[in-house]
Amino acid sequence: MSRLIAGVAGNPVAHSLSPLIHGEWIAATGIDGSYERFLVSLDGFAAFVASRRGTDLRGVNITIPFKEQALALADDADATALAAGAANVLLFSTDGRVTARNTDGIGLLAAFADQAPAFSPKAGPIAVIGAGGAAKGAVAALVAAGAPQVRIVNRTLARAEAIAAAFPGRARAFSWEEAEAALVGVGAVINATSRGLNGVDDLDLPLEAAPLTAVAMDMVYKPLRTGFLKIAKAQGRTVVDGLSMLIGQARPSFEAFYGRPAPNGSKVRDICLKALGEAP
Ligand code: NDP
Repeated sequence: MSRLIAGVAGNPVAHSLSPLIHGEWIAATGIDGSYERFLVSLDGFAAFVASRRGTDLRGVNITIPFKEQALALADDADATALAAGAANVLLFSTDGRVTARNTDGIGLLAAFADQAPAFSPKAGPIAVIGAGGAAKGAVAALVAAGAPQVRIVNRTLARAEAIAAAFPGRARAFSWEEAEAALVGVGAVINATSRGLNGVDDLDLPLEAAPLTAVAMDMVYKPLRTGFLKIAKAQGRTVVDGLSMLIGQARPSFEAFYGRPAPNGSKVRDICLKALGEAP
């Protein structure tokens, strides 16, 4: 069989940890494969996808800002990508067809299973803070996993309302001023905003309104221990970090690209922690 080629496409893409993750799994499994970075110009994503159809590229992970466009350009999409309105994986088949998938939701649930095993999405309402692409994928995954109600809190209320409208009876929009009410009785609070990224503008939430049993999860993984997670930890809560989600979304991508499950073990997390400048 010829060398299996996959990669990550985005702009910017230099910061992506995906090449480290997939590179480590390629080495550990002994697959004859490679995983490359594709820096695509902001108006060049459609041309990038068109030029790769029917080539030896098996697939790409998609990062900012192309996730919505990736779904729109694909010939087929799985139910998760359709529900999320975005794709983080494009698979290229030899006949030139392109299939979109979204594994971010799988990654989110895997992170909870790994770091908060007692948490069940079915046990009660869940608060998702933010209403961008990541939040929409999270709401779709949580609803599919049986969450009785997902409460979406966002600075721009209309964006939260738009997501809630896609999940009638299962999701509800809250303004930033209503955050306290949104946190009452929840089983988890998930930061899906970009606040806290690079340690600036930490998320400020009235977290004490959530029961102490509520798990705190932050999709931001740079820094790993965000201001939001530090406050949650100080309150005695179980916390789930964004790196666990990142590795969780990479696993099904790896299997789709290379036809083999990703190996288990913590080495890949340690490699990412080192790249992030974090202690293991
Ligand atoms: P988007 O740009 O689509 O959405 C950003 C969200 O953050 C919006 O809800 C926006 O609110 C909110 N926001 C931004 N600045 C502020 C602010 N100052 N105050 C209040 N709200 C603010 O980003 P994504 O949804 O793609 O990504 C969100 C985060 O999730 C990023 O940090 C990303 O790195 C992370 N992520 C992590 C993953 C992982 O595997 N760990 C996977 C995917 C994403 P508004 O609508 O009002 O503008």
